Amino acid sequence: MKPRRLLLKGATLVDGTGLPPRQGDLLIEDGYIAQVGVTDLPPDEVVDCAGLVVAPGFIDMHSHGDFSLPRDPEAKAKVLQGVTTEVIGNCGLGLHPSNPHVDAMYERIAPIVFGESGAMCSPSLSHYRDRLHQPGISVNAAPLIPHGNVRAMVMAMSENIPTATELSAMQAVVAEGMDQGAFGLSTGLVYAPGAYAKTDELVGLSQVVAARGGIYASHLRNEGSRLIEAVAEAIEIAERAGVSVQISHHKAAGHFNWGKVKTTLSMVDDANMKGLSVHSDVYPYTAGSTVLSAMFVPLWAFEGSSQKLLERLRDPATREKIIAEAKEQLLAYVDLPKVLSRVPKKWLLPMILKKMGEVVVINSVKNQRHYEGRRLGDIARERKQNLHDTAIDLLIEEETAVSAIAHVMSEDDVRQVLAHPRTMIGTDGFPLKEGKAHPRTFGTYPRVLEHYVARNKVLTLEDAIYRMTGLVAEKLSMTDRGVLRPGAVADVVVIDPPNVRDKATYKDPHNSPEGVIHVFVNGDWTVKSGVHTGARSGKVLSHRPSATS
Ligand SMILES: [Zn+2]
Repeated sequence: MKPRRLLLKGATLVDGTGLPPRQGDLLIEDGYIAQVGVTDLPPDEVVDCAGLVVAPGFIDMHSHGDFSLPRDPEAKAKVLQGVTTEVIGNCGLGLHPSNPHVDAMYERIAPIVFGESGAMCSPSLSHYRDRLHQPGISVNAAPLIPHGNVRAMVMAMSENIPTATELSAMQAVVAEGMDQGAFGLSTGLVYAPGAYAKTDELVGLSQVVAARGGIYASHLRNEGSRLIEAVAEAIEIAERAGVSVQISHHKAAGHFNWGKVKTTLSMVDDANMKGLSVHSDVYPYTAGSTVLSAMFVPLWAFEGSSQKLLERLRDPATREKIIAEAKEQLLAYVDLPKVLSRVPKKWLLPMILKKMGEVVVINSVKNQRHYEGRRLGDIARERKQNLHDTAIDLLIEEETAVSAIAHVMSEDDVRQVLAHPRTMIGTDGFPLKEGKAHPRTFGTYPRVLEHYVARNKVLTLEDAIYRMTGLVAEKLSMTDRGVLRPGAVADVVVIDPPNVRDKATYKDPHNSPEGVIHVFVNGDWTVKSGVHTGARSGKVLSHRPSATS
């Protein structure tokens, strides 16, 4: 599988630095890039790359692959797109570190993620790394430490502000993860228990990360009416903790919030002008995806345990309170234009709910599979219920294991974020065991190349590839990947840009693209002529900026 010297001959080289394409050869030797441009060492095997682009393997800045790699080590959805490294553990969620509190937290959601229940978390990053290395994986993984786990380990599902002792216990967990090779800390400030954290707690934990050169990646506290305040919080953390910040899946959700990314992107520019390091990632779609409970249940209802949550949903009085607050939250999420601000809530709410019924599509459930792919509003009509009762009943019937896709972003905003010089590409691929995944899991990279580079010219090819490779490596202080240069690890992709076709749709998402011809992971031929070879030479990487990982 690994000839000693492999020559990719006569290619167009797009080297991951953002420099224009140039003609040349690339020589891979023993898992590393040996020569770029003009090569003179005699190869053992030659691959004709005339008319094709050779680039660094893509680094998926925003992945949830840590949940799927234990059961899906070949990671075909990603590797067939050209991804050679996934940054895992995003949005404050992940499979390590853990203790019984963390196991309990993930138990309910497990069926749609894994197709089974039970504890699947690892107590530490080292344990998780060994667990993946044993069967082997086809893609590299760069782990972040999920803040939700850290908080649950120390404080279970408590809404409280940590005491000094609790904060230092959490800092110790973060320090241990960093010392075991994590690339930073991630937060999910809309999910319990991570969302219970106030800014001071996040600064306290980020200081530990900053001292070890890691990043703070955040799913912001609000991506709608309070997006601007949420970006300000991330920038405040960058400033107070001295940490390099990554704004996860930068977007404005909800019709009335569209256009706010203009403001938030200029806040990112200002922060960098001040000497901070603040970047974003984006997936190239106008729909997001998350668990249904995050849309219809206020955060306090998650306190305690998932069993407690179910009890609250089942108790008539508490259910009523949950629905009333969820409606308030929905209204608060909508930033109304002046003309509508005087319209009474009782008129406004039905309009908003009608719209919500249209844009929210159930994509995975544990039991009632016939709901998958259907709009929540249609399901509600069929059940002769309103939207909230439908959502709450579904959560009860499925023991909260319901995930949904929400069509809530604007194409204009997606383009603005994509075109911003500090934006990288990430899939945010959520690996479902059953049901219909968001097409981003299979189609992010080909969609950028086909739709935003070739067709709409939002980015040049070299710029797009820079945001998929070199820029991500720079952010992660990954010195040996992300660019084509002698001495770098041979994570390499060979693509045919005019013929790249994204085949993943909302209706039929589980399709890999055309036009991604060869993929090499750590020098091993992992995709050959568009087919996964079964090679498993991926590694769980360690954040050691100066050494090879
Ligand atoms: Zn997220």
